[in-house]
Amino acid sequence: MKAAILTSPQPVAQRPLRIAEVADPQLKPGHVLLRVRACGVCRTDVHIVEGELPPRQPGMIPGHQIVGEVVGGATEEIALGARVGVSWLGGTDGSCPYCQRGLENLCDAPTFTGYSIPGGYAELALARADFVFPLPAALDDLHAAPLLCAGIIGFRSLRVAGVEPGERVGLFGFGASAHLAIAVLRAWKCDVYVSTRGESHRKLATALGTAWVGSETEKPPVELDRAITFAPSGDVVIAALGSLRKGGVVAINAIHLDRVPQFDYDRLLWGERQLRSVANMTRVDARDFLALAAQIGLRPKVTVFSLGHANEALIAVKNDAVDGAAVIVP
Ligand SMILES: [Zn+2]
Ligand SMILES: [Zn+2]
Repeated sequence: MKAAILTSPQPVAQRPLRIAEVADPQLKPGHVLLRVRACGVCRTDVHIVEGELPPRQPGMIPGHQIVGEVVGGATEEIALGARVGVSWLGGTDGSCPYCQRGLENLCDAPTFTGYSIPGGYAELALARADFVFPLPAALDDLHAAPLLCAGIIGFRSLRVAGVEPGERVGLFGFGASAHLAIAVLRAWKCDVYVSTRGESHRKLATALGTAWVGSETEKPPVELDRAITFAPSGDVVIAALGSLRKGGVVAINAIHLDRVPQFDYDRLLWGERQLRSVANMTRVDARDFLALAAQIGLRPKVTVFSLGHANEALIAVKNDAVDGAAVIVP
């Protein structure tokens, strides 16, 4: 099969992915073999390819937002020819204390698609049969792909923040996740307040029906019930905290923060305000979100790249040069 292979991590401008013919993945028990129909490009792929996430295996094939057609390993639940999605969480051990508690997003021994196991920048991919999600017909290949990481993780952030219908919700930072979260919040009749840097982001946020749009650390004009931060910045977390009503919640959707600055407990946290972090996703999040996305007709903006242009797709994502999400079609 044809695949995009990372031999050694380098800046994406140096085109570190080699497009080459490699052996087809061999079907293993408990897995399905997929013909890749589309694979979304996530900012995490840039971090992997550039080595900010330490390499787990040489010759890795990135890509963790896979829309595939089952061509091998069909089961009673997943028929041959079925269209399924694969996300970042490629598998869990099912036995650690977190899996046992139903918190598989916190599993002690997870596998990650396109990072610890080969991903979807390829013509074929292997996935654990119990970690693929049947895709509703309403979601076509191109528009389903970006939902499989950015969409699911954004949705989980809303859950972690405890968002209730009709509430006032602040989004601090504006990327693919926030963009998709706005559509969910609007469907829940929430008023959305967006603080973000960049004129183009503010324009797009306004066009999506938000109640208010301001700059990066600007305070919304009302007290918020919930806030989600997407920027890897502690200052942004403090700005979000300063916007909350008593009893409100800030959910931090960032795998890394630069630091958490000292802040005034009496004014910012007292009054049962809460700070929470968001880590990974569960299969329940994925299934619930995909059903909701089909129901509300969620269609992200996409730009298509061929597999041969996988390096160009990464460069475009890194430079924020893509209007919406980038999707590779092999
Ligand atoms: Zn586990
Ligand atoms: Zn991702």
